[in-house]
Amino acid sequence: MKVVIAGGGAAGFFAAISCKEQNPLAEVMILESSSHLLEKVLLSGGKRCNLTNAQPNLQQFCSNYPRGGKELISIFHRFSPEDTIKWFNSRGVPLKQEPDGRMFPQSNRSHTIVDCLLDQARMAGVNILLNHGLLRAAKIERTNEFELTLTDQSKIKCNCLIIATGGTPGSSGITTARSLGHTINNQIPSLFAFVINDPIIKNLPGITIPDVIVSIASTKYQERGAVLITHNGLSGPAVLRLSSFAARELYDRAYNFTCIINWLPGLKTDEVLKRIISMRKSAAPRKICALSPFELPSRLWQSLAEAAGCEQYLLWANLSRKQANSFAELLYRCKFEVIGKDTNRSEFVTCGGVKLSEINFQTMESRICPGLFFAGEVLDIDGVTGGFNLQAAWSTGYVAGISAANPKNT
Ligand SMILES: Cc1cc2nc3c(=O)[nH]c(=O)nc-3n(C[C@H](O)[C@H](O)[C@H](O)COP(=O)(O)OP(=O)(O)OC[C@H]3O[C@@H](n4cnc5c(N)ncnc54)[C@H](O)[C@@H]3O)c2cc1C
Repeated sequence: MKVVIAGGGAAGFFAAISCKEQNPLAEVMILESSSHLLEKVLLSGGKRCNLTNAQPNLQQFCSNYPRGGKELISIFHRFSPEDTIKWFNSRGVPLKQEPDGRMFPQSNRSHTIVDCLLDQARMAGVNILLNHGLLRAAKIERTNEFELTLTDQSKIKCNCLIIATGGTPGSSGITTARSLGHTINNQIPSLFAFVINDPIIKNLPGITIPDVIVSIASTKYQERGAVLITHNGLSGPAVLRLSSFAARELYDRAYNFTCIINWLPGLKTDEVLKRIISMRKSAAPRKICALSPFELPSRLWQSLAEAAGCEQYLLWANLSRKQANSFAELLYRCKFEVIGKDTNRSEFVTCGGVKLSEINFQTMESRICPGLFFAGEVLDIDGVTGGFNLQAAWSTGYVAGISAANPKNT
């Protein structure tokens, strides 16, 4: 029994270790096209590795996947986020939870996770071949085996093939899946910041506004949460989440669209105007730009005031009704023209990949080509930031590995 796993990333390692632990007699081999193993795990979470999330409810957990959430439920019933925590704990890697639910190794170093996976693979007896990528695969109908051609043109045979080659568009993992009969949903970026050139935010990089609503004009897409003003525009959890859920729509618009920010989501729109009007009396002798009736960073408030036409020395007493109206509008419907996407340096994933309806989510086996399995980002599954992408890689890898170990029993 020989199982080959293409891809030495998070999903490939979990597949290999669980396969070998399930069937110690199986010959299990990881093929890695580069000279590095687990490179993304090493870079993940700012090199701290945000490896899962503590969200206890599986339905809610799955709502963090714009694509694949429904399918992942059955996978998580077999290997849940809690199982991930136990898996690492029981192998000597204690984890810690941050207030927002993200989980990291207590060491705060992604190296701890990488070392654990390398140790576990070695102890289980997984063979690893570096600098040997999977180029293509053909099914030998007579023997039910696969014949794999590697990047150095050498050939090997195996009974089961697990493709875990990650999200790189058009990679050999993807072309192999296609040649074996699978449909590939267009691979495009997810999780990106918005590039905006607008005087309101131009000089405010580094400012975080903890609670806003960001929406995309003329669509249903909107997210509430923190935004971060960057040198290039807007980022932060709400923007990244929005980019993920609207990934296809924004791609179709070539990343040119209008985004609208409600800076005061806790207030009704008439309440915003009422407060502004009331300041004309209650704060009459004070300068508008120096005294805000709302909890907003002072530099953002000054910038918004300026954009609403309130000069630096304008007093509350002298605010006209017209200016008050346009100021209120700017506070709850501030429009920005987005002129491009900016891939977040700390995390990005691919939307698209192997079509999910062609996979049996009890086993991760292909419905089209028996003996072929998939795991990780090569699938059309992606999550928002917070440990969801690695969790999908661990769980799909685990189930693919267990299933490939005993393909007839699954
Ligand atoms: C900078 C960065 C930070 C991130 N941080 C986080 C985080 O903190 N939390 C989180 O949940 N997610 C994070 N992600 C996303 C997460 O890392 C990925 O979703 C996850 O690593 C996917 O795992 P994978 O095993 O499917 O693919 P990959 O990790 O991409 O592994 C695929 C492997 O296959 C190899 N390969 C490719 N083609 C072939 C071939 N033909 N033959 C053999 N080998 C091949 C590649 O070299 C690679 O080693 C981050 C991503 C990036 C880029």
